[in-house]
Amino acid sequence: MTQAVYQVLVIEDEAGIRDALRVLLLGEGYRVIEAATAMRAEVEARAHKPDLLLVDLGLPDGEGLDLIPRVRAWSPMPIIVLSARAAEDQKIAALDAGADDYVTKPFSAPELLARVRVALRRGAGIEARRAPLRFGALRVDLASRRASGPAGELHLTPLEYRLLECLARQGGMVVRQRQLLCEVWGPDRVEDARSLRVFISSLRSKLEIDPRRPRHLLTEPGIGYRLRADEGD
Ligand code: CA
Repeated sequence: MTQAVYQVLVIEDEAGIRDALRVLLLGEGYRVIEAATAMRAEVEARAHKPDLLLVDLGLPDGEGLDLIPRVRAWSPMPIIVLSARAAEDQKIAALDAGADDYVTKPFSAPELLARVRVALRRGAGIEARRAPLRFGALRVDLASRRASGPAGELHLTPLEYRLLECLARQGGMVVRQRQLLCEVWGPDRVEDARSLRVFISSLRSKLEIDPRRPRHLLTEPGIGYRLRADEGD
């Protein structure tokens, strides 16, 4: 029987602690991705869609605390916060921001690993229970990362899928251009409206019966894009 290999994103600016966490997690059979800054962490989280985030609260380019709601805006992935600060208000702020658990440094390896296991179990439950999202004839299954349209299964590139997923997670609401660029391409590409237009167009060519008259992926002029929630006419 094959066991799922879980991927953990470790966000920690102190190389020594990052190394220790990597060794610990690799030893348990997890795959490990690392980031030393909040900005890099967002890029890695979007690119790899890890199963768990371990976030240090004190990062050089911004509080780890600010990262949590930004990740929560697009993913329910489990987040465990690590911090040297034992202060009660920091713990509460992290949990309020959307973290699932909190471990105070210095932590014991067995305790940290136990909390990682609990968070991963919870996360696996969230994805498995999640029903596919439907937008008329369009169906997006976040658990299996597949999508289908009026003509059957869509064969999407990873970037096309991420774009579609980002729109689908917002229900039928309009998603601003800058938000799509930030979530799909990363915070350093928010001005790249041309890339967005190119990928919206390729997505339409796959999911619309007539891409010149889109019925599913609609443009909101001057604002952004949205998926039509109803069948349309
Ligand atoms: Ca730190």
